[in-house]
Amino acid sequence: MKHYTREELDCYRNGDMNLFSRIICSEHLKFCRSCHKLLDSLKEDDALLDELRGKLDRLKQAAGEANKLNRFPENDC
Ligand SMILES: [Zn+2]
Repeated sequence: MKHYTREELDCYRNGDMNLFSRIICSEHLKFCRSCHKLLDSLKEDDALLDELRGKLDRLKQAAGEANKLNRFPENDC
């Protein structure tokens, strides 16, 4: 019995796997702890990425605000 790689599990959860493979994979995940753990770690990566993306957006927003303030300071008078 072969185990799934990160890439394969990524395809599985993103729906990039064909139906037949998906069924086999979901059956495998029902009883394979190590693949299940790997799938969970992918989800954690997602959460981390989302968090980072959120922080980046806020930084960009803050930078945009700062830019607006600095661009035409002479117009404020
Ligand atoms: Zn496995």
